[in-house]
Amino acid sequence: MRATVMHGAGDVRIEDVPDATLIEPSDALVVVGRAGICGSDLWPYKSMEPSETGRRMGHEFIGVVDAAGADVRSVKAGNVVIAPFVWSDGTCVFCREGLHTSCLHGGRYGVDGVDGGQGEAVRVPQADGTLVAVAVDEDDSLMPSLLTLTDVMATGHHAALAANVGPGKTVAVVGDGAVGLCAVIAARRLGAEQIVILGRHPDRLAIAEEFGATDVVSERGDEAVERVRELTDGLGAHSALECVGLEEATVTALSIVRPGGAVGRVGVPQHESIPEGIATFFDNVTIAGGPAPARAYLEELLPDVLEGRIEPGRVFDRVSTLDDVPDGYRAMNDREAIKVMIEL
Ligand SMILES: [Zn+2]
Repeated sequence: MRATVMHGAGDVRIEDVPDATLIEPSDALVVVGRAGICGSDLWPYKSMEPSETGRRMGHEFIGVVDAAGADVRSVKAGNVVIAPFVWSDGTCVFCREGLHTSCLHGGRYGVDGVDGGQGEAVRVPQADGTLVAVAVDEDDSLMPSLLTLTDVMATGHHAALAANVGPGKTVAVVGDGAVGLCAVIAARRLGAEQIVILGRHPDRLAIAEEFGATDVVSERGDEAVERVRELTDGLGAHSALECVGLEEATVTALSIVRPGGAVGRVGVPQHESIPEGIATFFDNVTIAGGPAPARAYLEELLPDVLEGRIEPGRVFDRVSTLDDVPDGYRAMNDREAIKVMIEL
């Protein structure tokens, strides 16, 4: 079968790889229908050391079950399924607490003999704990939005929960990428009164406003902090959602939150330590977040997508074939595309 393999910074190839097959009785074999290129895929695209064997890519995908192992009960051949961006057993102590990203028997796609999502098929381990079947056709118009539930919409929701977003709250979202835009949807969904989006791309900010952002701040650094303070009676936001991962964005998020507020960080950190440690200490700021347990949020978010209350699939502004995936990486890295959906 064919799949996406990264061989180094800027070097993404579509290659023949061994066919995905069932190995364990708890596996399901999923033929991929749609997959996403993630903002986090761009970090190795910028920095990966050259590699002869390369690295299988992709962790956002939906598709159809082709075959299920003897122990699989929750899905069967022919089911359209959503695969959250990590696989998990659904039964260990952390899964039962809703933290499937820390599953004791789980793991990631594209490593340790598990296929990546940006390819023709994936062997999904722990299928019962991982996959969620949805009663839609393969070509349903909801597919782009369903695909966001594998990662970016769940991640935006996670940022909002980590930052204690709720009715009447003032929320500031740092970053206008796909996760930041989904964080706006999440904040509105949870009842935020004021939603300030911080970003610099007019096309993305326009989508943010359609998703529910009430104010736009295009300044950066200290000027951005000043603008958010002006918009919040000089107090700062109850909740700051850090959706980038760079140190500058983290400093901004920690500087625009008000005393007693919370920062939800979901951008994969590209720096070792959390800045602003002294100021946030004296302001009693809560700092929370991490990788989103997308599997845990599916039950809550899926009905909103199926019934049309939210449309996070609008973050996909480019569709690619598998062969054109290398150019999809380039387009996202060059900020030509917000997010690329691969159709197989
Ligand atoms: Zn588990």
